[in-house]
Formats: sequence, C-alpha cells, structure tokens
Amino acid sequence: MANTNNNYAENLFLNAGAVLKGHFLLTSGLHSPVYWEKFKILQYPEYTSKLCQMIAMHFSNDDVEVVVGPTTGGIILAYETARYLGVRGIFAESTVDGTRELKRGFNIEKGEKVLLVDDVLTTGKSIKEVYQVIKKCGGILAGIGVLVDRSKSGVDIDTDLYSCIRSAEISYSPEKCPLCKEGAPLIKPGGKTG
Ligand SMILES: [Zn+2]
Repeated sequence: MANTNNNYAENLFLNAGAVLKGHFLLTSGLHSPVYWEKFKILQYPEYTSKLCQMIAMHFSNDDVEVVVGPTTGGIILAYETARYLGVRGIFAESTVDGTRELKRGFNIEKGEKVLLVDDVLTTGKSIKEVYQVIKKCGGILAGIGVLVDRSKSGVDIDTDLYSCIRSAEISYSPEKCPLCKEGAPLIKPGGKTG
C-alpha cells in the first residue's frame, strides 16, 4: 500500500530548491531531466522535521520500537522520526563488501518492531540492504517510510510503504535520451542515488 501527501511535501522540496531540473546521470546509468537533491532539504531542520512527522504519524499505531535508516540521509531521518515516536533512532552503515551493518553499539533486539526510513527511493538498493540487517537481527519490519518515492513500482518487500511524495522517475537510456540529442551537458550529481 502506498500513501502520499504530495502537494504539501512537494512544496517544501520546491521551497528548499531541492528539485533540480537539467540533464542528470543517475547511479543506474540512466539519464533524467529531474534530480531530487535530498540534502538541500535535509539542511533545513524545520522542513525535515515536518516530513519526518508525516512519516511518524502514518506509523503511529504500529508499536514501532526503533527507527533505522541507511547512512547518510537516513541518520537524520531516523533520528527525527524516532523523536516523534518517542523511540530509538539508529543507522546502518555500508561495509566494504556492499552490505550494511549496525556499528557504534547499535542493535535491534529479536522481535523488536522496526520502522525503516530513507530519503529518496529509486532502485531500493539501500532499503533492501537495511532490511537484510533487520532480518539478521530478528527484528520485525513495521513498515518503510521515505521522503520521495521515485521508483517505478515501489520496493520488492511485502510491507506498508509510505512516501511523503510519490513522483515516479522519468529516465532514459543514454541512446534514447532526448536531452543528449539536444546536446545538453550531462551533470553527475554529488550524492548517491538509490
Ligand atoms: Zn542524456
């Protein structure tokens, strides 16, 4: 089930200048005319807090005991969402072999109800990595909350997926990209998209 609150949340992103228009190279190798620069919004505590409140409210009756997100954006989102829910907020870091793990004394107890949060869902790679951590610890996934869902069809995990904004990605393979044909310069955004 996907829920959205598009207008209000989208305005926050627009006000923060977080929706960039141009010709972008995504991590997937595809080209896109739009790029969501999540840190442009995460730099404003007021906006970030409102979005996390939306996520927290959606899952307020799910007995969440801990909120976990992937580094880097997920650190901020897990903290702020957990603050609203009155529970722990932790983050999972990348390992050299491309998985995720809890460091710094963080843990998820067996049977604990876990809310997974992330900034922009595109391929769902980081979300799936964090989900593996939750499963390994024996945690129970209460749901997934993201700021922006840019995926074609959500994430391949059977749970409640909530997004503050649902905006399916417009992307082209380099050979079929109309922006390339126009000769627009290709921009590689700074952060990871995934
Ligand atoms: Zn292109």
